[in-house]
Amino acid sequence: MSIAENVAAIRQRINDAALSCGRDPKDILLCAATKMNDASAVRQAIAAGVDCCGENRVQELTAKLAENAYAGKPVHFIGHLQTNKVKQVVGKVDLIQSVDSVRLLEVIEREAERQGLTQEVLLEVNIGGEAGKSGFAKEEILPVVEKMASFSHIFVRGLMTVPPICQEVAESQEFFSEISTLSVDIRRKKYDNVSVDILSMGMSGDFETAIRCGSTMIRLGTAIFGPRDYTKSYQD
Ligand SMILES: *Cc1c(COP(=O)(O)O)cnc(C)c1O
Repeated sequence: MSIAENVAAIRQRINDAALSCGRDPKDILLCAATKMNDASAVRQAIAAGVDCCGENRVQELTAKLAENAYAGKPVHFIGHLQTNKVKQVVGKVDLIQSVDSVRLLEVIEREAERQGLTQEVLLEVNIGGEAGKSGFAKEEILPVVEKMASFSHIFVRGLMTVPPICQEVAESQEFFSEISTLSVDIRRKKYDNVSVDILSMGMSGDFETAIRCGSTMIRLGTAIFGPRDYTKSYQD
């Protein structure tokens, strides 16, 4: 199947999942997780109508930006971001989805101020509390959003999560619902520099469940591009 055919099939599945729970399919954005896929594949995904692209590695982002691969659509950063690479990402992407520490927020704030812009971000939540996985613990989220008033060059658009790999739908549903509740809580309290209109959750294997739990942005790699070829370039 071509990328265009895959995207068309995914749109149908998004439609069905949204309608099955009384949601408007237009409220769910499709982010192409483009890691390990080259500029040509990215352009095909954009031509097929994905809403944005998400890149995991700074080196790949930089290379594909130089090739103008994302022309016409927003590009997001969705991988673990080291503080020493913040300069290469702030102002280059529309949204950093994977902010996982206060230290990283501080470094982004400083760089955004230096560039004279406001960087939009999502806070990544390690919803399963898994060791070795990045993200804030869910208990840390409220204290962090309370602090955002002092980050005048950052705007928090919402939350992002990669839940633990689950065998049962009911199990992932529990993680997705938990984070959905958390985002509703934050939205209700109204913090400065925080809006929480984006809930980024759901990947190729679980996006329909995520949609039923309130996801507004799904990040799909395999379902769009097929299995990743780890022998190819773009690895760092
Ligand atoms: C790779 C990746 C995805 C997409 O994963 P698939 O299972 O291939 O759809 C989504 N989010 C993040 C953060 C990723 O790194």
